[in-house]
Amino acid sequence: MKTEFTSEQREQPIIQIMEDNLRKCVHCGFCLPVCPTYSILGDERDSPRGRIYSIKNMLEKGGEPSRQTVKHVDRCLSCLACVTACPSGVDYQHYIDYARSYIDSSHRRPLIDKLFRWLISTVITNQRAFVVAITAARVFRPISKIFGKRINSLVNLVPRQITKKQISDHNISFMVEGEAEIRVALLPGCAQRTLRPSINEASIRLLNRMRATVIIPKNINCCGAINYHLGAESAALMKARSNIDVLINEIEGDGLDYIISNSAGCGTHIKDYFTIFQNDPIYLEKSERISKIARDITEVLSTLKIPNPEIVAGPPIIYHDACSLLHGQKIKNGPRELLKKFGFQIVEIPGNHFCCGSAGTYNLIQVNLAEKLKFERVSKINSIIKNQPIQFLVTGNIGCITQMAREISIPTVHTVELLDWATGGPLPGS
Ligand code: SF4
Ligand code: SF4
Repeated sequence: MKTEFTSEQREQPIIQIMEDNLRKCVHCGFCLPVCPTYSILGDERDSPRGRIYSIKNMLEKGGEPSRQTVKHVDRCLSCLACVTACPSGVDYQHYIDYARSYIDSSHRRPLIDKLFRWLISTVITNQRAFVVAITAARVFRPISKIFGKRINSLVNLVPRQITKKQISDHNISFMVEGEAEIRVALLPGCAQRTLRPSINEASIRLLNRMRATVIIPKNINCCGAINYHLGAESAALMKARSNIDVLINEIEGDGLDYIISNSAGCGTHIKDYFTIFQNDPIYLEKSERISKIARDITEVLSTLKIPNPEIVAGPPIIYHDACSLLHGQKIKNGPRELLKKFGFQIVEIPGNHFCCGSAGTYNLIQVNLAEKLKFERVSKINSIIKNQPIQFLVTGNIGCITQMAREISIPTVHTVELLDWATGGPLPGS
């Protein structure tokens, strides 16, 4: 793609990176059919190629972006299906992230939008505030419609039942009896530890059973992904720096083999710390050390010795790929192989994989598009459930679980909850 940056603009390292990236795009359009927003809206400006072009114009022109550009950038899910499809290696992920941060600093959103974005990024990433918000959502659920569409959809995403925490996940070590194979840090996830504490509990039991000592470091923070994808770069970097310092302390103390995430969105972000801090002389080396040992939980479980599964012929299940695992971390077969090894039979969802509409906070901001995407995904899943004795819908991300669980007649569970059950843990959803 031809670019027209001025020599002054080209002196900025970030513009150089963006320009190198832009030049890789050969307009082939392979990314269009995989893009969920293009499939729904049929407008090139809501496709990866269209967004690349609008962002290029925005950056070349400088100053305040047009409302049209903001609208089409805001509609992107950051599902990264276009990155997987692109034959030219266009780094759309960091391109759109930069566009969001540019918009955040140069565009005046309507006050109500600004407030709503601030509210969700503050509440979700602060555990105490999140617990208060969830309690309020459950109290006001019967009358939530009077607060408008956004608040109503936010309230409806809160699960009807939230299981009680059985074990604390603050500053604790979970030791293996006898000698451990590895020592890992588990990132508990900010929304996940409140919405579905059973995921962390299952992860800890399973890792212990597979001879991994698990620690949850004191002062571990939200990874920053939510702020980052809302364009609030400074808040995201502050959280990331605090986490990096905590984890480096742990590495230099008793040592860590891996830093594990069981929430696909957080895992993708932590693996990306190294790129995010590429121009930061203080955090570059530290972030590289963190990203190097960051893993999704299924990647680590695949390297450990499997205990004898108690469920020898597990029930049929449907596995839904979370975009952040499939496209963000390129993890497709690992979780499927693990589930099969533990005795489960996997039934695949037919057709193209499209995002379920969860995408971090997308379902709270782009309510209509998120609903359409959810409807498409859930319809396919429900038509399989109607004809086959499927017992669980399984996925590796709390966002997808929250988005789809209420629309599915069988339990929607995390991969680790099933693997834990197969090796002696409680029945998921019980
Ligand atoms: S990240 Fe997803 S929604 Fe955004 S342009 Fe790429 S494919 Fe489309
Ligand atoms: S697939 Fe890649 S090279 Fe082709 S139009 Fe999309 S971004 Fe550009």
